[in-house]
Amino acid sequence: MNGKYIVALDQGTSSCRAILVSQQGDIVAIEQEEFTQHFPKAGWVEHDAEEIWEVQLKMFRQLLHNQGIQAGDVLGIGITNQRETTVVWNKHTGQPIHKAIVWQDRRTAPICEDIKQSGHDGYIYENTGLVVDAYFSGTKVKWILDNVPDARAMAAKGDLCFGTMDSWLIWKMTNGKSHVTDYTNASRTMLYNIRTLEWDPKILDLIEVPAGILPRVQPSASEFGLFEIDDVSIPICGVAGDQQSALFGQACFSAGMAKNTYGTGCFLLMNVGKEFVQSKNGLLTTLCCDANGQVCYGLEGSIFIAGAAIQWLRDGLQVIESSPDSENIASAVADNHDVVVVPAFAGLGAPYWNMYARGAIFGLTRGTERSHLIKGTLDSLAYQTRDVIDAMAEDAGQPLEMLKVDGGACANSYLMQFQADILGTPVERPEVIETTAMGAAYLAGITLGLWNSELIESNRKVDRVFKSTMSEEERKSLYTQWKKAVERTLDWVDA
Ligand code: ADP
Repeated sequence: MNGKYIVALDQGTSSCRAILVSQQGDIVAIEQEEFTQHFPKAGWVEHDAEEIWEVQLKMFRQLLHNQGIQAGDVLGIGITNQRETTVVWNKHTGQPIHKAIVWQDRRTAPICEDIKQSGHDGYIYENTGLVVDAYFSGTKVKWILDNVPDARAMAAKGDLCFGTMDSWLIWKMTNGKSHVTDYTNASRTMLYNIRTLEWDPKILDLIEVPAGILPRVQPSASEFGLFEIDDVSIPICGVAGDQQSALFGQACFSAGMAKNTYGTGCFLLMNVGKEFVQSKNGLLTTLCCDANGQVCYGLEGSIFIAGAAIQWLRDGLQVIESSPDSENIASAVADNHDVVVVPAFAGLGAPYWNMYARGAIFGLTRGTERSHLIKGTLDSLAYQTRDVIDAMAEDAGQPLEMLKVDGGACANSYLMQFQADILGTPVERPEVIETTAMGAAYLAGITLGLWNSELIESNRKVDRVFKSTMSEEERKSLYTQWKKAVERTLDWVDA
């Protein structure tokens, strides 16, 4: 192999990947390996940060080896990572003082309750853009400092570093020279003031996190340090959290552009531009990247159950053999037969925030068939997406012109067509759905001066644009039926 490349490191929740990207912006090769998930108690989820580093390094080396290239052929590295997962390490030994606490981990829920009781949640929402929740890093750092013997004393002496997975990997790659993160990752810690773009002293005080352990925060497209390997130094020059990286990889560079990732759940992110926007509809405000990989604002809404509802059809009800089978079955029926499925299996997230809601199927008659149930379940992914998009448009004060999609379930063309129909907005599916990794690669390429936003836009190939063919009247009638169904699932279980 000849030539020079960018490598994207994608440090996900279940695996580490290394992706080789050519200077033309094409994916040349991907290496991937899973690492261990630890569940020490109900509701607790941990990762071994040392293992993650080893697997990530192994994937990098394997990528070079299998493609027959040298470290010196890599012009720069971009990193994208699972967000919020928290690691604290000893800066002298380079060893974590505790396993990393994963974003899914609920152990700090009581700390969050205390913060809410003390009435500080309003300040936190207004300044970090986040609702107080165990999901974010802040209370996880506090838990580690409070529960590891001597940790507070070590932090006071300046012996400890805190970071999300990007910080940890960069620190390892630079042999401890860089303790840094980017704006998008910092904005998920619940410690970072996204209005002033500084760690928030008031919140640090409240959650008892010493400022000395925090990384320096930089733009996503900037120089984070040099990866020293095989006698060469490769610049690490692009970093973004996974959802923001996907938004960038989808070329959502300006205000009003949004992407939806259809995976187990759905993650919607909309670029809202250079001004902070406070949601009035239960969405989060978060930091994203503008066309130059510099900081801007975004609105984010998550849907808990999306592809998971299709897995439920397959594994729970056993009415389909595989997830892709749902496409042909749903396409073959003329209409939903008035069947509406609300997959509120784990309560409802944005914009309802009702944890007491539970799933339900409405409109059953003697004429209801398995296919209606399957169609209704697929449709629920599109309805839930519309709920969040409507909230975003209202908060942003501008309608969505186009929805860009990625994630496993966007391969389902029936679903994408129904999504366009129920939104009344075109839905654009890219050829390359590896948008998360491409975001990190693009950010690195921008810093290196290889690419700019125009080049990235022109490199992004569209597989298909789905345009609405539904009448306004039908859209309204279906969506009204959905809203009525949701209404009836709320507060189903007692508080
Ligand atoms: P994650 O990253 O959350 O693991 P993926 O992006 O890999 O998710 O997408 C997998 C999810 O998408 C699964 O929940 C699966 O049921 C669903 N899925 C995959 N292909 C299809 C399809 N063709 N139609 C509907 N759902 C699908």
